[in-house]
Amino acid sequence: MAKVAAVILADNARGAEREARSALSKGADLAELRLDFVRNLDPVAIRNLAAAVGSRSIATFRSEAEGGAHGPRDDRRMSLLNEIIGQRFAYVDIERDADAERIEDLKRLAKRHRPTIVVSHHFAAVADSSQIQDALEACAAIGDVAKVAVPMEDVDSAIQLVDLARAQTERKRRVILIGTGIDGMITRALAEDVGQEIQYATWGRPVSTGQLSLAAATRLRGRDPMILGLVGHPLGHSLSPAIHEAALSALDVPGVYLPFDCDEGSLQTLLEAADRHHVRGFNVTSPHKEAIVEKLDELDGDAERLGAVNTVVIGDGWTKGHNTDVFGFRLSLRALGLRVGDRRVLVVGAGGAAKAVVDVLAREGAKVQVTNRTLRRAQVLADSFDETVDAIPLDALARSGPWELLVNATPLGSPGLSNGLPVPTAILAKVGYVYDLVYNPPSTPLMDAARRLGKPTTSGLEMLLHQAAKSFELWTGRAPPVEPMRRAAREALR
Ligand code: NDP
Repeated sequence: MAKVAAVILADNARGAEREARSALSKGADLAELRLDFVRNLDPVAIRNLAAAVGSRSIATFRSEAEGGAHGPRDDRRMSLLNEIIGQRFAYVDIERDADAERIEDLKRLAKRHRPTIVVSHHFAAVADSSQIQDALEACAAIGDVAKVAVPMEDVDSAIQLVDLARAQTERKRRVILIGTGIDGMITRALAEDVGQEIQYATWGRPVSTGQLSLAAATRLRGRDPMILGLVGHPLGHSLSPAIHEAALSALDVPGVYLPFDCDEGSLQTLLEAADRHHVRGFNVTSPHKEAIVEKLDELDGDAERLGAVNTVVIGDGWTKGHNTDVFGFRLSLRALGLRVGDRRVLVVGAGGAAKAVVDVLAREGAKVQVTNRTLRRAQVLADSFDETVDAIPLDALARSGPWELLVNATPLGSPGLSNGLPVPTAILAKVGYVYDLVYNPPSTPLMDAARRLGKPTTSGLEMLLHQAAKSFELWTGRAPPVEPMRRAAREALR
């Protein structure tokens, strides 16, 4: 079983002891004492820490060259390392580059308490697989456990790294092979499954991007993992990881929800590796919602009708695409008490979200008009439905309406875009209710403008939550814990 080590970054020895005890009481198997973070580290502090928490600690004195904090001079580093390795720590981490020449001396000093020696190497930049393999061999040759950490630049290289780690543990090697950065998160999520020695987890602030939280790491410990995530490019900031982490945590599901920043090639690699690496499903966002349709074995009715998928479920070599945006919008109308049958509705925008919205509205019997910056796209969208849907130019809105409901399905109002409104304020005066699919910020300029006219409004948060809840149910077969998901979304929006 991969031991979960909470990484302790305190800048003084007392703080390190306190934090280590606290992390151990919260479920960590080990505390990694990052001694390079402790200012004015001296032999007394080392002995005290060893006596207090050493039997459940990894003592790591990272050199500056490999990302350490305070970086003492070489001779000072050596004398402190001599002290560390002679004390009662469960594990001591030494570095291949900085310490290999002294390995025999260090092993002699280690004889007293026999810590497990981790020999580590941390690449500063992306490395190819032969460099990684060489580093691993060199570490394994002199340590009990070989640890290599290397930045990942894409999902493909992370998947290769997981395969390499698996090949090592199948040979009964004790290894820790970490892909750092967001793209490397799957290497951490699969640490247990692959049989890695240690899963380093965040305690407080993260020292390495992509590290799992202690809560997520302990949830995965000793259990079959369920890898979920969000596939798109670029991913930008998404609420989905926070929402799904809340759901996984609330139901104690041994899963993680990871960002997979994928171009089309990486998407293919991910699909091919899915069964092997416990990827049970993912959400799909721009630009893959339509392109992925061809790559899947089966589609549900909504995805088939719209030719767009936002949720993939994977199991037993079979992939099925769903469109939970349709479900999410439909359910949000119910939750908000919005009846649309026979009512006049104006949809602004003609992209994927607009299509899902028009599909629901048309099937519920609304009289739908679509307008868009590019009128041609609105016309194509309207023509793709069997039901009557009208496309109207933006400049014809002044002569049209009124509408019981307006739905904004453009990104206008999102951070980074102009504060302009999708339709002029004068048009809002002819609208009964404004539904903005944008959910960040929680109150958009469009909603503010509508409220100033006394109109009720809602943001896209309800739809987002319901589509996320449906995806969660499809992946896990469990009733989604909507309230914790909602709280996590609101928290992430603060
Ligand atoms: P698409 O890129 O597929 O479509 C975007 C649409 O917005 C197009 O019609 C585009 O017009 C229009 N548009 C883009 N920029 C502007 C602009 N500056 N001014 C006027 N119109 C503009 O995106 P989606 O349909 O996937 O998503 C649209 C929005 O809906 C996003 O903000 C997204 O976050 C939100 N959404 C919310 C969901 C929820 O659960 N709440 C679910 C899905 C989406 P043109 O055709 O001229 O390019």
